[in-house]
Amino acid sequence: MRSIRLFLVASILAALILFNFVAALQGYQSSMREADTLFDNQMLDLARLVSNLDLSNASTRDLRLGNNLAFQIWSESQLLAASHNAPALPLQNFAPGFEYVNFEGYRWRTFTRYEVPLDRWVIVAERTDLRFVLAENVVLQSILPLLLGIPFVGLLIWIIVSHGLRPLQQLSDALRNKGANDLSPILSANSRIELDQVVESINGFIQRLDRVMEREKRFSADAAHELRTPMSALKIQLHNLSEEMDTKHESFQQLQEGVDRMQHLIEQLLSLYRATPEQFINNCETVDLYAITQDQLASSYPYFEVKEQNVELIGSSIEIEADKFALETLISNLLGNANKYTPRDGSIVVSIDDLGDEVCLKVEDNGPGIPEAEKSRVFDRFYRVAGSDGSSRPPGCGLGLTIVSHVADLHQARVEVKDSSFESGSAFCVYFKKKP
Ligand code: ADP
Repeated sequence: MRSIRLFLVASILAALILFNFVAALQGYQSSMREADTLFDNQMLDLARLVSNLDLSNASTRDLRLGNNLAFQIWSESQLLAASHNAPALPLQNFAPGFEYVNFEGYRWRTFTRYEVPLDRWVIVAERTDLRFVLAENVVLQSILPLLLGIPFVGLLIWIIVSHGLRPLQQLSDALRNKGANDLSPILSANSRIELDQVVESINGFIQRLDRVMEREKRFSADAAHELRTPMSALKIQLHNLSEEMDTKHESFQQLQEGVDRMQHLIEQLLSLYRATPEQFINNCETVDLYAITQDQLASSYPYFEVKEQNVELIGSSIEIEADKFALETLISNLLGNANKYTPRDGSIVVSIDDLGDEVCLKVEDNGPGIPEAEKSRVFDRFYRVAGSDGSSRPPGCGLGLTIVSHVADLHQARVEVKDSSFESGSAFCVYFKKKP
């Protein structure tokens, strides 16, 4: 059984029914004993009554006692008197005391007494099935309410068990509602002793996970940081070299591209690290989204110019609460991608729309776009869409959109990737909460 609640309810109910059954069996046996004593006493009384019958009176010699009682009075082998339903033969073989016999298709209990002064035998008999009926009635009366009450008892147990399992449900809700990046310990305010250990183990596990993740993040950030200085030195050496040798040489160009790529990766790793909630120093202030976008476009302009791309900014001044540095990182990544993935002569439109409650920053282009199946994955770390035609992809490290989504999260903004309004291409929309 997979449900603890169902298991508990079923087993408690089964135990209750079993207990009632055993109690009923016990009750039946003791009722039978009581009924035996009661009826045997009645038979002794009946024997006394029959002994006192006036046998000179003809009507008493063939007395009607009811179908469940019978008697005979014998002297030697002569039947002196008998009830109307008694057989012609002796009811019992003249052994004093109680006995069981069968006649008229029933089982009877008999009591035989020898009366010495009158030299005669008095035999009284009573049908035994009546005793069973009595005992059965007593037991039925006592267990019937219990049987009828089983559904209610079941319901009551269900409610109690559900109540008892509520802390487990609360624990599972607390775990389910935890954000993907929330590695804070679970609070056990309403917990029970039994669950304290589980909560403790989970919290221990979360703590270890937090430490490992922190170490992993710090490692890449530290490595990136350490690589920054030799990378700058390498760039200076390359620059010096470019003045002494032919920069058109293929090896030199490859070297330059490699160094540029490495520097980009290092900077992206550091940006990603800074965009983690633990490292993010919240310097939120009121900023003009339009003005910041305009500045970022201006600084990226040389790249658009090289590819002769047509860039347009639509919108007007609008204020949001944001960390300026993080916002610049987000915008420059979106602009960088639009520039990188849109071919020469392509078009890029950046717009800022006031949607009432929200402000939407949209960067769309007429590049190759992103296949539907890949749209949800492009925000994953190091994920890059593979070129469908096998053509060489623009260089990148797959961290730009991860940084965009982290920065958006830090601002409680959401990012969506859609198809652009051009014939082809993609549109990245970031919805910021509007300043109240
Ligand atoms: P990368 O360093 O590869 O650009 P990103 O995280 O910025 O990493 O982007 C992830 C992937 O999403 C890219 O490899 C690219 O395939 C796709 N992508 C991002 N922006 C665009 C865009 N404007 N047009 C087409 N594809 C894009």
